[in-house]
Amino acid sequence: MKRDPAELQKEILALKEQTGATILAHNYVDGAIQDIADFCGDSLELSVKAKKYQADLIVFCGVRFMAETAKILSPDSRVILPNSTAGCPMADMAQVDEVRKYRKEHPDEVLVAYVNSTAAVKAQVDWCCTSGNVERVLNAIPADAKIMFLPDRNLGANMTAKLGRPMSLWSGCCPVHDRITLESIREARAAHPDAEVLVHPECRPMIVEAADAALSTGGMLRHVSESLFREFIIGTELGIIHRMMRENPDKVFHPLLPQVVCPDMKKITLENVLAALQGKCEEIVLDPEIMDAARKPIERMLALK
Ligand code: SF4
Repeated sequence: MKRDPAELQKEILALKEQTGATILAHNYVDGAIQDIADFCGDSLELSVKAKKYQADLIVFCGVRFMAETAKILSPDSRVILPNSTAGCPMADMAQVDEVRKYRKEHPDEVLVAYVNSTAAVKAQVDWCCTSGNVERVLNAIPADAKIMFLPDRNLGANMTAKLGRPMSLWSGCCPVHDRITLESIREARAAHPDAEVLVHPECRPMIVEAADAALSTGGMLRHVSESLFREFIIGTELGIIHRMMRENPDKVFHPLLPQVVCPDMKKITLENVLAALQGKCEEIVLDPEIMDAARKPIERMLALK
């Protein structure tokens, strides 16, 4: 029998208090989970929080690569992923053996890994970046350096278009954002002519070009609260609309496409967050050598102001 969400939330909050756990939630998870989290944010913000809190116990409501990043930055914390099958198809598109091989064959290239990559892959690269700081990272790399950007070909191509910087691109993408079409933008604009169209830079370049702005989830949240527009069409995972509505009750948000839902993010439920606090879920355990190597490109990114 399905339990009452409000009751589950109450139980989670009581157990959180008892265990001293910190709950971090990505902007894409269900609103009911965002509401009981200590902090909600995008990958960059959550990485920073994990490092800052250094809590004994972190329940990470997001997908595996995010929980791994929290563990890398907070190695003495126990980091729990409430559903061990919550992965990221894009991260899985860059396998460590292939990245190692590429590195060997292209020793002169600078490897930049989007945070949506496994810990083992991060351990092979020079820089890490998120969609919130990718420009800053790329601008910190000497202009004459050759770059391989992985695994997201869309984010890479969007940055090449924006910064005029050619890069070799891995052939990965986010299947959720990649399915956004020009037709959906045309239809949404026709239905809501006064709305601003915001998309994520994981969308294909033609989608970014057709939108009014391409922003990370953290950037989108800041943008909607500061914008003079009152209506927005949101072209990213729909979980973010919960927070947009909560923080901007006077504004209106329309999903660009109802199918922009990440099945992996939705594997995190109130039930498994409770189970995580009860010690019934997987703790993230990483090889110390991989953690040390993966921390370098992440710390390098975080050191950029
Ligand atoms: S939305 Fe895309 S990039 Fe993000 S976790 Fe889901 S599949 Fe991965």
